[in-house]
Amino acid sequence: MLVDLQQENSRKIRTRLEQIVGPQRFKVWFRNSTQFTCCDGFVKVGVPNLFLGGWIEDHFSEAIAQAARDVLNKDVQITFAIDPVLFRNLRQSQLNSQAAFIEKNAERVLRDGKVLPAGESVPLRRLKYRIDDFVVGPGNRLAHGVATALIEDPRRDGGSVFFHSGCGLGKTHLLQGIANALAERQPQVRWAYVSGEEFTNQFLFALREKKLDAFRHRYRDIDVLLIDDMQFIANKRATQEEFFHTFNAIDGSGKRVVLASDAHPKLIGDLSEPLVSRLIAGMVVRIDKPDFEMRCEILRRRARQTSQGVPEPVIQYIAEKITANIRELEGCLLKLLAFATLAKTPITLDLARQTLDDHLRQTGKIITVSDIERLVATYFGLTPADLHTSRKNRTIALARNVAMHLARHHTDLSFPEIARLMGNKNHTTVLLACRRIGTVLRDDGEGYWIGAAGPQTRKLREIVQSLEEQLLR
Ligand code: ADP
Ligand code: MG
Repeated sequence: MLVDLQQENSRKIRTRLEQIVGPQRFKVWFRNSTQFTCCDGFVKVGVPNLFLGGWIEDHFSEAIAQAARDVLNKDVQITFAIDPVLFRNLRQSQLNSQAAFIEKNAERVLRDGKVLPAGESVPLRRLKYRIDDFVVGPGNRLAHGVATALIEDPRRDGGSVFFHSGCGLGKTHLLQGIANALAERQPQVRWAYVSGEEFTNQFLFALREKKLDAFRHRYRDIDVLLIDDMQFIANKRATQEEFFHTFNAIDGSGKRVVLASDAHPKLIGDLSEPLVSRLIAGMVVRIDKPDFEMRCEILRRRARQTSQGVPEPVIQYIAEKITANIRELEGCLLKLLAFATLAKTPITLDLARQTLDDHLRQTGKIITVSDIERLVATYFGLTPADLHTSRKNRTIALARNVAMHLARHHTDLSFPEIARLMGNKNHTTVLLACRRIGTVLRDDGEGYWIGAAGPQTRKLREIVQSLEEQLLR
C-alpha cells in the first residue's frame, strides 16, 4: 500500500516536472535516464552516471524540488544516486541526443531565462552553494585561500584564476560560493556566473541574431566573470576566440576572470596556444581529493542539516569507503538516511555496511564507453556523436581509434561489444583501431588532428596518457 503510494507520488512528480521544464527537455534529460523514488521527506533521483547526475543536479535541482513541493505539499530533500540499472542500460543514443540538444537549442536555453539582461550582473538563477559551507583541508586550502582573497578584495589586480580538479571535488561549490559572497559582501561589484556551455549558447545565439555588440557589452562590462566547466568552450572554435577576446578585455583592464574546469588548461587539449598561455600566466590552482579528516567533517556537517543523528563510527565508516568524490560521499550519506527513514530504524554501523556495500558493489570504479567517448570527444573538439559517424576525416578517425583503444584497455568489454556501443560498427573496426594505436605508441609516433584552434600535433603517447589521467581520476 505504502509502496503503491510512493510509486504514485513519484509518477506525479515526474508529470509535474515535465510541465515545469517542458516536454522537450524532459525527454532529453529525464524520460529514460532518471528513476524517481519518493519516501518520507526524500526524493531520490537515480541517474546513470556521475556526469549526468552532476549535470541534472546543477541545472534542474530547483525544478525537481518545485515539482516535489507541488505534488507533496511540503519541502523535501532531493538526493542524487547512481542507479545500477540505468547505469547498465544507458544507451549511447541518449547521450547523443543530449549533446545534440545542447548544440541545437541555444535559443531555447536563452528563452528559459538564463541570459543576463544587458547591464545586469546578477544571474536570474539562484546559486545554491555558499563559501561558508565549504570545508577546508589540505587538498583545497590553496583554492579556498585564493577564493577568500578574491571575495575580500575583488578589485585588486590579482590576474585570472583557473581551478581544476576531478569530478565532484568542489569547483562549482567554490565558484558559486564566490558569487554569492560577492553579492552579499560587495554589492557594488558587478559579477556574472555562467557555465562554459551557457556562455557558448549565449554567444552562438548573439551571433545568429546579430546581437554581438550587446553580448560583448554585457560580458566585458563586469568586474568578476566566473565561468564554470570551461572545457565546454574548447569544443567551438568561434566561441573560444570570442572567449579569448572577452578574457583579454576583462583581464587586461585589471578586472578578474575566475574559471573552473575538469582539467589543467594544457590538458584540455583543444584550447588554442595563445589562450593556454594566457591562462597559465594567471594562477592555476588544483583541488585535490579530500583527506580522511575532511571527508568526516563534510559528512558531519551534512548530517547536522538533517534531523537524524548519525553516530561518529558511521561517519568514519563512510569516509573510509568513499575517498575520491565528495558528491558521491554525500550521496552515500543521504542514501543511508533515506534507507533508515524508510525502514524506520536507527542509523547504525550495520545498516551503513549493508547500504554502502551494496552501493560499492554496484558502482565501484567502473569506466563506461560513454565516459571515454565524452572525454575523447572533448579533447579533440568533437561531440560523442561525431565518433559514431563513418566519416573518414583525420580528426574523427584519430579520436575514434583512441577511444576504441581506451575502451579496450579500461573496460571489460569485448571487441564486438565495443563495436556495437560505438555506433554499431563491425568488430574488425575496433580490432584494427587498437592495432593501429598500438603500433604508433610502440614507435612513439605522433597524432595529427585539426582542432578548434587549427592543426595540432602531439605525441600519441602524451595524448593517451593525459586522457588516461583524466579518466582514472
Ligand atoms: P565539481 O564542480 O568539482 O564537480 P561540486 O562543486 O559540484 O564539484 O561538488 C560536489 C558536491 O560536493 C557538492 O554537493 C558540494 O557542495 C560538495 N563539496 C565539494 N567540496 C566541498 C567542500 N570542500 N566542503 C563541503 N562540501 C563540498
Ligand atoms: Mg561542477
